[in-house]
Amino acid sequence: MVPFVPIQGTALEHHSKPEQAFMQALYPKIGEQLRQNGLHSENTKAGCAKCGACSSLKAYE
Ligand code: SF4
Repeated sequence: MVPFVPIQGTALEHHSKPEQAFMQALYPKIGEQLRQNGLHSENTKAGCAKCGACSSLKAYE
């Protein structure tokens, strides 16, 4: 899961980004679900879960 980032020239370019507190409230809950289901970024080969540049979720796995 990565936070929404508005991109210039798209229909949602003026949509606001989520607040940091909003994302920090979600990550622990999602991290717990990932742990419970054995879904760790270390086990993935590609994609956002492996990259982690746009999200702090890895810190909550
Ligand atoms: S692959 Fe990495 S840089 Fe690209 S959207 Fe996912 S987390 Fe962000």
